[in-house]
Amino acid sequence: MDSLSFLTENEVRSIQQQFGTPLFVYDQATLESQADAVLAFPNAYGLTARFAMKALPTAAVIQTLTARGLHIDASSGYEAQRALRVGVPASHIQITAQEIPVNLKELIHAGVLYNACSINQLNAYGALFPGTEISVRINPGLGSGHSNRTNVGGPSASFGIWHEHIPEVLAVAERHNLRITGMHTHIGSGSDPGAWVQCATLSLSIVAQFPDVTTLSLGGGFKVARMDHEVSADVQAIGTKIKEEFKAFAAEHGRELHLEVEPGTFLVANAGVLLSTIMDVVDTGADGYNFIKLNAGMTEILRPSMYGAQHPLVLVSQDEETRQEKDYLVVGHCCESGDVLTPEPGNPEGLLPRNFPEAKVGDVLAIEGAGAYCSGMPAKNYNAFPECAEVLRGRDGVMTLIRKRQTPEQIWQNEILLLVLFT
Ligand SMILES: *Cc1c(COP(=O)(O)O)cnc(C)c1O
Repeated sequence: MDSLSFLTENEVRSIQQQFGTPLFVYDQATLESQADAVLAFPNAYGLTARFAMKALPTAAVIQTLTARGLHIDASSGYEAQRALRVGVPASHIQITAQEIPVNLKELIHAGVLYNACSINQLNAYGALFPGTEISVRINPGLGSGHSNRTNVGGPSASFGIWHEHIPEVLAVAERHNLRITGMHTHIGSGSDPGAWVQCATLSLSIVAQFPDVTTLSLGGGFKVARMDHEVSADVQAIGTKIKEEFKAFAAEHGRELHLEVEPGTFLVANAGVLLSTIMDVVDTGADGYNFIKLNAGMTEILRPSMYGAQHPLVLVSQDEETRQEKDYLVVGHCCESGDVLTPEPGNPEGLLPRNFPEAKVGDVLAIEGAGAYCSGMPAKNYNAFPECAEVLRGRDGVMTLIRKRQTPEQIWQNEILLLVLFT
């Protein structure tokens, strides 16, 4: 069985008593040490590091990470509003979005930065703010990701402006008298320093075509090992190689480029655990399976159902007696056959049992590596389960409630009953 990362078994038991489950717990020390690792990213001519807030947008987490020195990457106008509400200075927020914000004008007036991700977006921005500076997101034609669903570069990804359309970008910029001072690529380069260097050289060759660019963002996508057999990105090793590429570019083109990176996963993935309680243990006979049923599932953590993502699972028993081990499939509480926590690696359709001490109703099952794209990306309110609460474990070990459990009334508060029922 896997092991707990930042909580002790006794902490888990007392949190279950004090706050109830399901519940996300985040660790301040881990959040801050990951932030420090990103802020120490080697660079030749300056660095801005952003937190891709879509990975975990809870206010207290944004506060913790921005207090450490990180800026914000927002994936929509609403995310930018959410960060502003938390107190992040507008000039520290950059929007890189699939959908042009409805209130783009207000956000830009407030001082938020904008990264145009399509010709249409660039045109719309130019019409509103002619004669200003802008950044553009380019798809350099290279992609990397753990599955087709997470691939964000290359010909099968819609993100950014396809690199062959740069002449059109330049023409639109000229029409609106825009200066393109920033270039951005986010292809999710993973843990291999070689892939990062390849992305950096490709991106720099594109920057060469934009004479006014002073900042190059290489996006996020620094891989984090959740499972034992996985490898985390070594940001020092990656940064050291990229630094050389920036120096070579400066020597050749006389431009000392400012570097930006904007990880999400790397900052928060292993800073979060989802604690759930075992509600039932059932089986389907001698040729079938044993099942553990949780009081959480795709309403809190969608990644296993969506991409067959693997998370460490730790059973914390109520008593400390030793129990015989058994193989179980772990399933969530939704009436949905896809709500499983033990998909087969690389195959969301398949199932692969895992070994646990004998499970009993009332035990805790801790789902580790649940900081990134879990709480912020749920199948929220499916089966009318309320959004769960969140707690931050401070450096002193004190647990602070940072998001309340949703009340049932909040689930249906915006619904309007018909006054007349037709039969
Ligand atoms: C999601 C996203 C990121 C963060 O990606 P991770 O894989 O979580 O590091 C960074 N930049 C942009 C534009 C994104 O959309």
